[in-house]
Amino acid sequence: MLLKLRKNLSLTDRDALMALCRDLGFVPRVVTGVSGGVELLDLEPSDAGELDAARTLTVLGDQYAVASIVDAGQPRERFARTPNQPDSTVRVGEAIFGGGHMSLIAGPCSVDEDDVLIDIARRAKAAGATVLRGGVHKPRTSPYSFQGLGRDGLALLGRVREEVGIAVVTEVLEPSDIEATREVSDMLQIGSRNMINTPLLRAAGRAGMPVLLKRGMTATSKEFLLAAEYLLDAGCGDVVLCERGIRGFDSATRNVLDLGTVAHLKGATHLPVIVDPSHAAGRADLIRPLARAGVAVGADGLIVEVHSNPARAKSDADQAISPDDFADIARDTAALCAALGKTLVLPKSTRLAPGGASSSPDNEAVAAPHPELP
Ligand code: PEP
Ligand code: MN
Repeated sequence: MLLKLRKNLSLTDRDALMALCRDLGFVPRVVTGVSGGVELLDLEPSDAGELDAARTLTVLGDQYAVASIVDAGQPRERFARTPNQPDSTVRVGEAIFGGGHMSLIAGPCSVDEDDVLIDIARRAKAAGATVLRGGVHKPRTSPYSFQGLGRDGLALLGRVREEVGIAVVTEVLEPSDIEATREVSDMLQIGSRNMINTPLLRAAGRAGMPVLLKRGMTATSKEFLLAAEYLLDAGCGDVVLCERGIRGFDSATRNVLDLGTVAHLKGATHLPVIVDPSHAAGRADLIRPLARAGVAVGADGLIVEVHSNPARAKSDADQAISPDDFADIARDTAALCAALGKTLVLPKSTRLAPGGASSSPDNEAVAAPHPELP
């Protein structure tokens, strides 16, 4: 920020202004030698403390010693990673995203009947998922497609969360969904179609819960980050970004998984970034290679659509994979994490085995520990 000082300012007034600038979180430096004998004050943000840009401008603009604000400077957004700033980590149940930790989210596109959901949840957890996904309010492209089980589905999610002992993430479509959803879940999801829904972002940001924000299918990385800023500005400290594929011209895949942007985001923001290979591919046969690519490029987690009977999934059946196929992805992820020096966080009761997990009577994985796992 650059301030123009009043002419013939007394030393006392100038010193008082410098002290105020320090209090506001700046390092002030007087710039002399400007034509017309004008004195400028250059303000660099100091490393200590958060700046409130709007308040700063008002306070400085009101000072007698300040003739005008020549350049208000760039406000520093909360999502931005400052030099050497470490990753933020977000914890959801047993899962940890960011800071070298990687976690897996799995479950159906839409919450299904009772016994189906519990079976998926148990098998996903046994395979390595620490969070169960499942939509009850579905943002379907056609109004005639299955719209989700609504409130009945929420109750079901809550029961499965208790019985299986797994954290839950589920989507909210409007602010009025939030209250009931927070009772039965550990993380709110804001989907691609709502990434620019600012009232929803603000309401979710005030909910006091972690939020999974999916990138809009035509959103630039800056627009995506600014949508996250709405959540952060509303008070949410636990935002996880999700790249889920952007619109392309080739119908061979549903979307284009934008791995370059995942790498870019890891530098531009301290927030964790995860990859959704399911909505990117739209095809079950491509989920595993895209999941591998997501981990390799630096994602802090994966969210995968898993169903115990993929052909019977109530939505997105073409991209649903079985729990066994998900277990392969978990093993791939463990191997890649070992190579990258990262930690794959597993449910406490789960161990991955190179040869596949088997089930104990309570349906939790009991195979031998993977040598590289913590
Ligand atoms: C989902 O994850 O259930 C979903 C609808 O995804 P997206 O918002 O990325 O389309
Ligand atoms: Mn889906």
